[in-house]
Amino acid sequence: MSAVVVRGQADFKAMDAADPLAPVVKQFAVGEPGVLYFDANSIGAMPLAAQDALVRLGDEWRRLRRRGWSDSDWLDAPQRLGRKLAPVIGAEPGSVLVCDSTSINLHKMLLAALSLRPDRRTVLVEDGAFPTDNYVAENAVANVRRVAGPEGIARALNEDVAVLFLTHTDYRTAYRHDLAALTRLAHERGALTLWDLSHSAGAVETALAAGNADFAVGCGYKYLCGGPGSPAWLYVAPRHQDKVRPAIAGWMGHADPMAFDAAYRPAPGVQRHLAGTPPVSGNLLMEAALDLWTDIDPARAFAKHSALGDRLIELVESIGGSGLALASPRESARRGGFVAFRHADAKQHAAALERAGVIASYRKPDILRFGLSPLYHRFEDIWELGQRLGRVQ
Ligand SMILES: *Cc1c(COP(=O)(O)O)cnc(C)c1O
Repeated sequence: MSAVVVRGQADFKAMDAADPLAPVVKQFAVGEPGVLYFDANSIGAMPLAAQDALVRLGDEWRRLRRRGWSDSDWLDAPQRLGRKLAPVIGAEPGSVLVCDSTSINLHKMLLAALSLRPDRRTVLVEDGAFPTDNYVAENAVANVRRVAGPEGIARALNEDVAVLFLTHTDYRTAYRHDLAALTRLAHERGALTLWDLSHSAGAVETALAAGNADFAVGCGYKYLCGGPGSPAWLYVAPRHQDKVRPAIAGWMGHADPMAFDAAYRPAPGVQRHLAGTPPVSGNLLMEAALDLWTDIDPARAFAKHSALGDRLIELVESIGGSGLALASPRESARRGGFVAFRHADAKQHAAALERAGVIASYRKPDILRFGLSPLYHRFEDIWELGQRLGRVQ
């Protein structure tokens, strides 16, 4: 597809006609008429099935009350949703839980990882990572070192580093780290890795198992479309699962929660990282979104995502005087979930675009981000976005 010279709307229509994910677009509720939604990505669009799930929950709560925990499988949602998410993020079965928030899971996974490296003290993080990541690390651990870029990471990975804790996709530029290469380097130096995949999961390949990652966390409400404040997820590589000490020894992570033992015994596997009672309504919305993936080959979704980004870059660069300069890597394998451009008046420009029916997101000082979903965006949406970007200058 990259050899095609893009000329006009007809080409974009043809891309939609050839898109194996075109039927999935129809499984999303239509937003405000005339508005192009490219937020990156505080909340993904709503799957139609989410509304049905809420109605069903109301009915189950009303009728079943206590029996809902078992009859409606409310209680084992964290594991069940984890099984559904695993293929989307390239994780082994039984290695993922859907639970808590991203920030909480980052704290939990960082302490769990540190429990496997008791002789080392340092946690390496990246300067300019998403703020919550570095706040969590610096609050939990005395020895946090901030470094910059793959070279800085390589230089700083010494024999005192216990955990290399990285945001996979940079939240301003969408620069995507090479997860497998950095994990290999960390392992060579005796360190473990913790990856924050919030701006990657559901949009681009994350290949946790193939990349030999140790721990990972991500949010559910961005590209995974799990809804407002949806639960996040966590990943623990199978080889570590029965060795790690959970950061929170909650009763839902006990080997036998319903035995009400006086003493804590961790559950086998990833389940020990469950803290308390799961948020049933949030899980139901998240499940409606994860069920969209049942018939989707993740590789095809990721290929569509990279094509959407490539087409957007071509269009923007074909507009004379748009004022937008690519801030993301041109190579799609190095980009995460969105495409970012620099603009001298990015904040005002985002507001002007919004008045023209384009939702993008601004990040200081000069970044405009366009979030791309392989599930609910059409190529024609990209074409229309290009038209409006040309008009609003
Ligand atoms: C969105 C995002 C978060 C959000 O954390 P919450 O606890 O869900 O608010 C964390 N990390 C990254 C990299 C993000 O993009």
